[in-house]
Amino acid sequence: MVLFCQLIYLPAAIAYKPDVHIKITENAVLESQRVQSALEGAGLLPAGGDLEQTTLKAMNLSEWIQYGASWEDNIQIWWGEPQDIAFCHFYNPVTNQGYTLSSGTEIGQSLIARSHDFTNEWSYEMAKKLYYAALIGDNSEILDGDITRMRPGWVPHLLGPITDMTEEDRDQYFAWTLQALGHTLHLIQDASVPAHTRNDLHGLLEPYEVWTNNKLKYLEENDIFIGDGSNPWTSWNQHTDIIVPDVFMDTNQLDASDTEPISGSGQGIAEYAYANFMSEGTIFTYDLPVKPDDSEFFTNYQSENFNLDVRPVNGRDMTFVYLRNKHPGGVEHLALAGVLHPHPISSAISYDVRWTTNDRKV
Ligand SMILES: [Zn+2]
Repeated sequence: MVLFCQLIYLPAAIAYKPDVHIKITENAVLESQRVQSALEGAGLLPAGGDLEQTTLKAMNLSEWIQYGASWEDNIQIWWGEPQDIAFCHFYNPVTNQGYTLSSGTEIGQSLIARSHDFTNEWSYEMAKKLYYAALIGDNSEILDGDITRMRPGWVPHLLGPITDMTEEDRDQYFAWTLQALGHTLHLIQDASVPAHTRNDLHGLLEPYEVWTNNKLKYLEENDIFIGDGSNPWTSWNQHTDIIVPDVFMDTNQLDASDTEPISGSGQGIAEYAYANFMSEGTIFTYDLPVKPDDSEFFTNYQSENFNLDVRPVNGRDMTFVYLRNKHPGGVEHLALAGVLHPHPISSAISYDVRWTTNDRKV
């Protein structure tokens, strides 16, 4: 029965596949000068040291962060109690809510709320507690029972009260600090998945998540995607009223009255994902991005709003019409908008209008 429940709930919980989370995290850690200087400042890394060479409790520093980024989903699989996390990897930057029913009732909590929840043992708040415990060699700030869903086989004696940690105990708490930060990175990453910002309780074949998983090799070979988009690091100091990690997801610049995406890179990743992309289950059910006028589509399909792509289907050339997003940094194939058919009798061309994201080009 437990397994059965997992099969029902898990599709809602998973955004990127675990390997994608790991790879994004690894690349982010490698690219970030701030991670390097923060670890050096904390004394966890010698000045100029390599965080893929420096180990802590049998894993290197980067691996601990990557591990947290994957355990955030795997925790549900292992412990068989997904119902309390399954709905907590969503965040709509316009409503500031997590997954909601059509009645407006929020199920569980949003991923921003989860990252601050003291009862979430891998929250950002817990990362600070774990770090503090490691620094002073005393875990009294962490209540007994705060941490219950560890990876199997992990040193249970370290979960009880200790006021005089050994060097080895402290290393473990430092390692858990990095792991907790990895869980927070996972939540930030989920906020970049359009379906997870647009209240789309999708299945395992969500097109964007499938696509990113298929591109894993590309991620490995190229190390990083570089392009326009959200980069709150460039301006997060301008939003001092919004605490970390929230500012990376939502800078409160996008609201329900907006008719176009916010421009520039100083926005939260959830705001960017929500307003510039669509998901399979919510295509044009939200105001952003704005649905093109159908009449315009019928008469002006060759306009700069659309891309045409001819490719064979069952041996016959078909013309696919894609909607473009002309927003700076927008995508060339935002959605499959339709397929053109030459009319069999006259020379007129007819159309199937298909608004979907479920196409390999999109
Ligand atoms: Zn997730």
